[in-house]
Amino acid sequence: MIKLAKFGGSSLSHEAQFRKVKKIIESDAARTVVVVSALGKRVPSDNKITDLLYILHAHMQHDVEYETIWQTIYQRFVEVRDALQLNVPIEKELEKIIQMVAAKKVSVDYLVSRGEYLTALLMSDYLGYRFVDAKDIIAFHYNGKFDTERIALQANAAYKKYGKIVVPGFYGAYPSGDIKLMSRGGSDITGSILARALRVDVYENWTDVSGILMGDPRIIDNPETITEITYRELRELSYMGANVLHEAAIRPIQEVKIPLNIRNTNAPADPGTTISSDEKCTTYDITGIAGKKNFISLILYKSQMSDEVGFLSRTMQIFERHEISIEHVPTGIDNVGIVISKHSVENNLYELLDELKSELELDEVEVVDDLALIAIVGGNMRGNIQLTGKIFMTLSQIGVNASIISKSAQELNLIVGVKNTEYEKAVRSLYEELVRK
Ligand code: ASP
Repeated sequence: MIKLAKFGGSSLSHEAQFRKVKKIIESDAARTVVVVSALGKRVPSDNKITDLLYILHAHMQHDVEYETIWQTIYQRFVEVRDALQLNVPIEKELEKIIQMVAAKKVSVDYLVSRGEYLTALLMSDYLGYRFVDAKDIIAFHYNGKFDTERIALQANAAYKKYGKIVVPGFYGAYPSGDIKLMSRGGSDITGSILARALRVDVYENWTDVSGILMGDPRIIDNPETITEITYRELRELSYMGANVLHEAAIRPIQEVKIPLNIRNTNAPADPGTTISSDEKCTTYDITGIAGKKNFISLILYKSQMSDEVGFLSRTMQIFERHEISIEHVPTGIDNVGIVISKHSVENNLYELLDELKSELELDEVEVVDDLALIAIVGGNMRGNIQLTGKIFMTLSQIGVNASIISKSAQELNLIVGVKNTEYEKAVRSLYEELVRK
């Protein structure tokens, strides 16, 4: 049994968090592969090391004084090392970095990756695990895609050789050896890619919450935690705003069916959320509710639209030309609604409307602004006639009109559109009705 344990920045913010991590690792001998982010915030007003490194690079580039920022970074690593009485010669590593900065010979990717690199050096010493640099395992092709074959070879060789390893997250290397960063929050991806390469039994993602919540805690009082969720359900929820994991972390493990367990470093006894491909039934009718505000619906009217072959395809091409991603397409006989995010047409809405009107020879375009979308997600919804009834009954009882309704073909989600101003009220009532009753 092999467990990969990835720890996020909040689990690594200072010495006390390192101690918790060690306890977690030592409590289960299967936890032999550890991936770390960079030191995170100790308190909400604190800075993440990653953010400081980005700022340091910008200051270097623009010849702005950076000594204070550098001292903050320097001190944070030295403090953890000293508090844990480790032997890592961290000053030497830090000196090397600042010399490169002083000579302006450092790429942003290299400099920012040092957050994870130094954190992993400290953690490996503290755990007595072998430090394995991500540049020697996480291989990228020059086109920026993962070289999965090379990753599998390198990861397995290192694991076989050392048995217990700590790998910095968030970066890898091109064939030239140059460092490449992933997108923000990328340590989740490193965890996922490594979990797959090593075919571990479980990928544990340790963070500061006890799993994924069934609803947004900013809207709902104390929402319950989801104990089991499928990868597909999670995709639906994260797409609609529930964010716990980096989106790109799901696919690599979903393909090889490695379960992912989200756990809380500050409450390690909590079981957290397990994400897998098993279609297990939850105690509730639904798995969760998520949603986003600020959508816009463009309703296109044209007589005889339904008889016109290729109308939708021509419509889509116009949106594609503007690189606008379409969220939903509710259709009528001679009209079709195109739901997009407001943000995507911030600068070119009128131009887009003109093009739609003239190229598609429309009779009219109606713009419905300030829409919010609510997604009710769950594999249990399939064929559940009562549930759909309950949803609309709830909305009608609170006087909210569902202007857009769409159910995915797999019946994994049901999306309703409401006014932005009614969003919170609708989410709260739906949650009460579908989860708490
Ligand atoms: N430290 C990086 C970030 O802040 C990567 C990560 O935490 O996963 O985005």
